[in-house]
Amino acid sequence: AKSQQRAGHFYFSRSMGVEIRERVRMMHALRSGFQRGQLFLHYQPQVDLATNRPFGAEALLRWRLEDGRMVPPDRFIPIAEYSGLIVEIGEWVLRQACAELMRLRAAGHRDFTMSVNVSQVQFRHPHFVDMLRRALLDTGAPPDYIELEITESMAMEEPALLVEKLAQVKRTGVSIAIDDFGTGFSSLSHLQRLQVDRLKIDRTFVTEITGSARGSSIAQMVVQLGRNLGLSVIAEGVEDERQAQILRQLGCPLAQGFLYARPLSPEALLEWLAGNPM
Ligand code: C2E
Ligand code: CA
Ligand code: CA
Ligand code: CA
Repeated sequence: AKSQQRAGHFYFSRSMGVEIRERVRMMHALRSGFQRGQLFLHYQPQVDLATNRPFGAEALLRWRLEDGRMVPPDRFIPIAEYSGLIVEIGEWVLRQACAELMRLRAAGHRDFTMSVNVSQVQFRHPHFVDMLRRALLDTGAPPDYIELEITESMAMEEPALLVEKLAQVKRTGVSIAIDDFGTGFSSLSHLQRLQVDRLKIDRTFVTEITGSARGSSIAQMVVQLGRNLGLSVIAEGVEDERQAQILRQLGCPLAQGFLYARPLSPEALLEWLAGNPM
């Protein structure tokens, strides 16, 4: 038993070593890829569930390697966070999304909104609010058409600090959505103190929605919660018409997902908007 334990321990350390080496390798690749312009954004339309009309888009980060292979954000964002690179990359994402919003406005889409994901590492950075103000000023993007998506797990940490920081962010004029809502353990009293504008129902609950009454109960709860607190609610990951229909029945006003559009390049988004007017 003892030798087995040791063998197990040895195996564990070695695989950890491999994992760390892989992470370090990826961190270097990400840093140089970022500097060499390998990162870019795609934009996934968000629609009104009742009319199917678009009102905005979420900016989603993409990384294409020199050889053309794509690295999914779920793989490289944790590395960017772990290494602190996310602070720089996140600022670039925000500016890029603001600039794209300005191009869309110039193309006639005056009421279009832009949602930008913000990592907790980035949000906690002491200069986050200054960075946000500068990005808005430099790009000329109207703050009331910008939304920041923060994750629920973040929304539930360090209450006092978070409340104050969100208040500062709100004073810039941008709005705030809680992403992946329903996956964390939010305290409702806490949620009431946070100056958020929108709850984003996580895709896992949208996927379960057609399975059973139980499957739709979390989505239903979030819609109710939004209504009670006066918050907007959007369902993410809507893939088929049955899901959309149940969400409509639950009273969910907004949606995003492959049913409407995949994340699109700026050119493809313009084309899509031409066929799907606001
Ligand atoms: P998220 O913020 O929850 O973004 C939604 C993810 O669901 C996106 O994956 C999107 O492509 C995908 N999705 C949208 N509709 C559907 C659908 O109908 N079905 C399915 N199966 N998937 C759908 P993506 O682009 O791979 O991004 C993954 C995660 O990476 C994001 O999850 C977000 O947490 C993170 N991420 C992406 N861009 C950024 C960024 O600029 N900054 C930060 N901090 N995180 C980002
Ligand atoms: Ca998001
Ligand atoms: Ca999400
Ligand atoms: Ca999600």
